[in-house]
Amino acid sequence: MADRIWSYAEMRYREFQSAELHATALEAEGFKLTRGVAGMPTAFVAEAGSGGPVIGFLGEYDALAGLNQASGALECRPDPERTLNQGHGCGHHLLGTAAHLAAVVARDYLQKHRLPGTVRFYGCPAEEAAAGKTFMARAGLFDDLDAALSWHPSVANSVFMNATLANVQAYFRFRGKSAHAALAPHLGRSALDAAELMNIGVNYLREHMPEQARVHFAYIDSGGPSTNVIPAYAELLYTVRANRIDEALALFERVEQVARGAAMMTGTSVEMVFDKAVSNVLHNDALDRVMAEQMEAIGALDVSDEERAFAAQIQATLAPDDLSNSSKHFAAALRDPQPIVTGVLPYSATASRPVTGSTDMGDVSWAAPTTQCLTACFAWGTGFHSWQMVSQGKASLAHKGMLLAAKCLAATGVALVRRPDVLQEAARELAGKRGGAPYRCPIPADVLPPPARDAAAAQAQAEAVRA
Ligand SMILES: [Zn+2]
Repeated sequence: MADRIWSYAEMRYREFQSAELHATALEAEGFKLTRGVAGMPTAFVAEAGSGGPVIGFLGEYDALAGLNQASGALECRPDPERTLNQGHGCGHHLLGTAAHLAAVVARDYLQKHRLPGTVRFYGCPAEEAAAGKTFMARAGLFDDLDAALSWHPSVANSVFMNATLANVQAYFRFRGKSAHAALAPHLGRSALDAAELMNIGVNYLREHMPEQARVHFAYIDSGGPSTNVIPAYAELLYTVRANRIDEALALFERVEQVARGAAMMTGTSVEMVFDKAVSNVLHNDALDRVMAEQMEAIGALDVSDEERAFAAQIQATLAPDDLSNSSKHFAAALRDPQPIVTGVLPYSATASRPVTGSTDMGDVSWAAPTTQCLTACFAWGTGFHSWQMVSQGKASLAHKGMLLAAKCLAATGVALVRRPDVLQEAARELAGKRGGAPYRCPIPADVLPPPARDAAAAQAQAEAVRA
């Protein structure tokens, strides 16, 4: 498959080697493993200890399609040794590893100090363009957690203070009637026309959307390369984002109406296939304050001159816009670009939260009190999902940032075991933010996770062949 570009849809939920590496290492550490949870072969739960409180560490290990990049290179250049074109453009290889280490260290500490409590590591697949954790949340895997802890590799050290957008994603499949485009155009009904009209309709919707809502689309199938054949089939993928999950679901319904309108206008039919959804992150100030204390106590990153020089070289490949976009997400004090931001940025629960993308940590944060941190694994200004991020993914700074994250997570987990009052406060805070209602998964109950979906489709096809 060396010469083929994998689509993101094919890439998702296929982290077989990474998931197994984590699982077997945790088993060797004495954790009790449950593999293949929530209908996903690469999702697992590892548990150690007993009784309460229950502290969960969440790790990811998925990559991005189209980002094969030579490690350490200062230009966009694929690694010829790699047979697939994926790359760790979001640092999830570091994310899973630090959370894994934190779980083991926290378990060791509780054991050594004879403290009660259960430590879990959640192996969470398919965060990118997917929703592994949302399916895990729907399966109730986080319901008994007193605290969920995670982090994300970044360009600065801080508690995770950004707002994230909720999203809803679905395929729209238009079916029409093929005909010769010149000989019998009146007999054809173009599925491509329907897809185009849906996009135009949605573009008119943009003026009337809630602030910060975003709608993205891609052609999965435009109906074929011929101009003289009226396309009988066309398929679009839509992602709808908004500040809150209820807003995203409401906006998605309006997008669905536009699709139906486009089908009516063109005499075609449309089928909506729900793919996934993720909720916005609910910040938990009670837990975030403990994370902030621990980060402050552990202190700044110690970096070498070589690391600074490499970071400066990476920065030289970035546009001024990239650097100022990084600043937008962190304190105004950092407007002055520097190669590596080593200090811990001050925590504030009340400062305005800049909006970032979406993450399936959102659903975890609705199911259980959640705190996350960021650490500097990359040069200041490095954009996420970029070749520069992949290039820095194995460098010594990435390792240092990863270890700092593991320390912050483990220390926060242990501090929380010693502070039942904070855990109670965190639970009350979450109940209040949910308005007294339980967590409701935004993915409909009949939508299976993609691996189970694919298996069901393959079985249906095999049965059809036999019949
Ligand atoms: Zn990420």
